[in-house]
This record gives sequence, C-alpha cells and structure tokens, in this order.
Amino acid sequence: MADTIHVFTDDQKYQYDIHSLFKAFFPKEDVKIFCSRAEVSEGEKDPGSCAAMYRITTAGGRVSFEILKTDELTGEKKQEYRDESPETPADFDDPHGAQYRSIIKRLIYRNLRKKTDIRLPWGTLTGIRPVKLFMKGLEDGLSDEDIKARIRDEYLVSDTRLELGLSIAKTEKKILDPFLHRNGYSLYLGIPFCPTTCLYCSFTSYPISAYGNLADAYIKALKKEIDYVAEESEKNRMISDTVYIGGGTPTTLSPKQLSDLLSYLRNKLDLSGVKEFTLEAGRPDSITREKLEAAKEQGVSRISINPQTMNEKTLKVIGRAHTVKQVYEAFDIARKAGFDNINTDLIIGLPGEDIKDLIHTLERIRELSPESVTVHSMALKRAAGMHEFLKNNPGIQSLNTPEMTEEADRRIREMGLLPYYLYRQKNMAGNLENIGYAKEGRYGLYNVLIMEETESIIALGAGTVTKRVYRDTEGRRTGRIERCDAVKDVRLYIEKTDEMIERKKRLFAD
Ligand code: SF4
Repeated sequence: MADTIHVFTDDQKYQYDIHSLFKAFFPKEDVKIFCSRAEVSEGEKDPGSCAAMYRITTAGGRVSFEILKTDELTGEKKQEYRDESPETPADFDDPHGAQYRSIIKRLIYRNLRKKTDIRLPWGTLTGIRPVKLFMKGLEDGLSDEDIKARIRDEYLVSDTRLELGLSIAKTEKKILDPFLHRNGYSLYLGIPFCPTTCLYCSFTSYPISAYGNLADAYIKALKKEIDYVAEESEKNRMISDTVYIGGGTPTTLSPKQLSDLLSYLRNKLDLSGVKEFTLEAGRPDSITREKLEAAKEQGVSRISINPQTMNEKTLKVIGRAHTVKQVYEAFDIARKAGFDNINTDLIIGLPGEDIKDLIHTLERIRELSPESVTVHSMALKRAAGMHEFLKNNPGIQSLNTPEMTEEADRRIREMGLLPYYLYRQKNMAGNLENIGYAKEGRYGLYNVLIMEETESIIALGAGTVTKRVYRDTEGRRTGRIERCDAVKDVRLYIEKTDEMIERKKRLFAD
C-alpha cells in the first residue's frame, strides 16, 4: 500500500478531474479519491497505509489544497500544508461547475508542480483531444497569439505544446475543410486476431493459433454487417470517405479470407467516393506477398507496418515474436506490391529502452523511409500485461522523457515528415502524447476525421465503437454525438451479430 495516494474532497462532481491530474503527476501510484469519511475503510485509516494524503475543498466558494499527515498518537489527519486559490468563480451559479473545475485543477497543478518539480507539458489538460481547443480558436477567428494566450492562461500549457497544438490544428483544418459540410462517414472493420499478444496490448485481440478456427464465422458475421451498411448508407445518402481495416491484425487472416472479405466489401458498398483505404497490416510476422497483393488488387491504398521498436531485445521482452529482419522484409514485400503510402507505428517508453535505443530505432526507420510515422508514448494501462510486468521487474523501467520525445520529433522532421495529428491517452508515461507525422499529402485522413469527430464512423466487428455525428439540414455539425458499442468477446459477437446491427440501426434512426 506504500505506493497509494489518498485524496479527500468535499465535492463528488470533481473527483474525476482531481484523479486524472494526480495520476498525471504520479502515474505509477495508485491514486484513490474519497468523497466522504465513510468511504475510507478501516484498513485505509491505518497511518502506514498510504504514501501521501491530500485534501481539496471548495466550501464557501474558496478552493483550497492541503497536504495532510496522520498524527501517530491519535490517528487523526492533520494539516501539514495549505494553499488557497486567489481565484473565485465569477459566476457563483456555475451550474456545470466548469469554473470551479478550472480553478481546482490550476491550484492542484501549481502545488504539485512545486512539490514534485515536474512540469507537465500539457499543464492541467487531461483530455484526449487537446487540438480541439486550438481548432476552436481558429474557428473563432482569433490570432495565433490570442489562441495561445487563451489556452496558456486557462490550462497552463507549455510553450512547446502551444506551438505544436497550433501548427497541428492549422494542418488539420486544411485537411478537414472539404469534409465539414458533407454527409460523409468513415467505415471501420475490426479484425480481432493477432499472431501473439503483445505485453502492452489493451485492444480486443485473440491469438490466431487458438482462435483461428473462428475466423471464417467471424468473416461471415462481418459480411452481415456490411449488408446493413449498404442499406443504411443508401437510405441516408451517406458517402463513404474512408475505409480503415484495423484490429488486432487484419493480416493474420489467410490470403483467401482477406481477399474474400475485401471483395465482398467492394461489391456491396459504393466506394467510389473513398479517398483513403487503409489496411493495418501491423505485425510484420503476419505479412506475406499474397496478402498484400490481394489487398492492392482490392483497392487498399495505405497500409501500416508497425515494428514499434527496431531493437531485437525489446521485441522479445514485449512478446512481439518477430524480428527486425522481418520488418525490412515486410517493407520490401509492400513496396514490390506497389504500396507508396506506408505508415509505421513506434512506441517511446517500451520497457528497458533509453534514448540510445530510441535513436537506433529512428535510424533504422529512416532507412525504411515510410510516408508516415506515428509515435506513441507508452500508456501504462491497467488492463495490459505491461503493468504487471513492471511490477514484477522493478529493475526495468518504462521511460519516456521530454528529451526522448524531442529527439524523435527532430529526427522524424529531418526525414521530411511533419506532425499532422495528435491525441493523448490516460496514464501515458511522462504525460505526453501520440503524434502522427507525414509527408505532404500522405496524411492519414481517417485518423484526422476520427480524432476531430468530423463525421460519423460506422464500425463493424467485436469490440468496436460506432459514433454518429449529428448534422443539421444544411449539413453542419450540431455538436451532438452519440455512440454504440459492440461486444468485445469474439464468440459472443458471432452469436449476437443481429443485435449489433440493431444497435446501429437504432443509432442512425430518424
Ligand atoms: S499487434 Fe496490436 S492488437 Fe495485436 S496484440 Fe499486439 S498490440 Fe495488441
């Protein structure tokens, strides 16, 4: 329990925000929020049960931050340090608590920064789509300086991230403009099978060796869903702008299965308006000449080959079960099959890697010369085996320092690729971000459309999420977004395909 942090607060409404910000400062600690004394179990009252205690209160319109300690004689919590925000919400009604929320987060940030000496690049921002704030500034017609000042004052974002966020927002705006007023949608198909399960995986993924016997039934279920999409898009006059086949690893399917699925898709749907058709080949150990040739023949225009690292020792640690040599071979096969738009995913912060390992990876990636590179910061998700691995191997670290991110940024820009989209996840090492870089005109359009919630996404397959972006009669977005999930369990998905279709029908009704 020594790595647990307890935070007490008098208003339940802000517990999520308080938790997210404390986790950003203390990613490895278990942060527990208590909204009343009754929630604290007997065991947790024990003075030795947690590493630190804090209290955040908002009573009487004053926001205060306290560090508490337990009196060893009486067991009572006593105040060791207190700071009060000079800010009070201008509007005391503040019905949704937005002003309180901002003030609370700024006060926590300033005090934890002082205490830990950590500066979070994104300040108090803990959401996954920071670029939206910059986009809003551009839509409001503000100057660059005013956009940056607004975001700096509100969220205490660092200068480097202000520059990055603004430049990405401008690029995204150029990419998205043609899609803002049309009834387009993106189609996603999830193939939940992989060669093996990676240590850090938190996606819906089943090892093909054990679940391959379900692949044919799964494809049959997907075809049923494709029939539904054909009806829905015709009824609502929706144009398919992008198709993305992800997972999992779609190329774990056999060449015949892949070809069968892709040709069904092409025959059933009107894909004449599709600007980008991506197949996330992903794992190099699943790529063969037959599969990529079939994909090319069926209209796939962009693929992803994802080594994550070019260090052999790390590939073994993370259970990728492929070699560096296979990455080169996969690129060679893809180029020979005629693919001139290849994305490569990398992860900074894999276990045991330092800046030298990262530089090694980046040098190898330069040799491969992909059209786009997506750099992920390791996310320490609880669901993943990674969390367990780090706990059981205290000598191995998952490091992502600002220096590593800067090194990656500099080297990738030197390859002629520029950042074009960005998103964040919870519990990222170093509280950084994932950034997509691309050569001019080789942007991952699907990524930008989805990240900025520009249009609806119809998602087929186990564990996928369909999202409806509502528009008015003029085709403008109303701001309303609704979603529906599909079950994650692959067997259940095959059994309940009709129900998954019904959920989507209800979502797109009226
Ligand atoms: S390839 Fe991707 S989806 Fe498959 S196990 Fe690895 S991380 Fe998970």
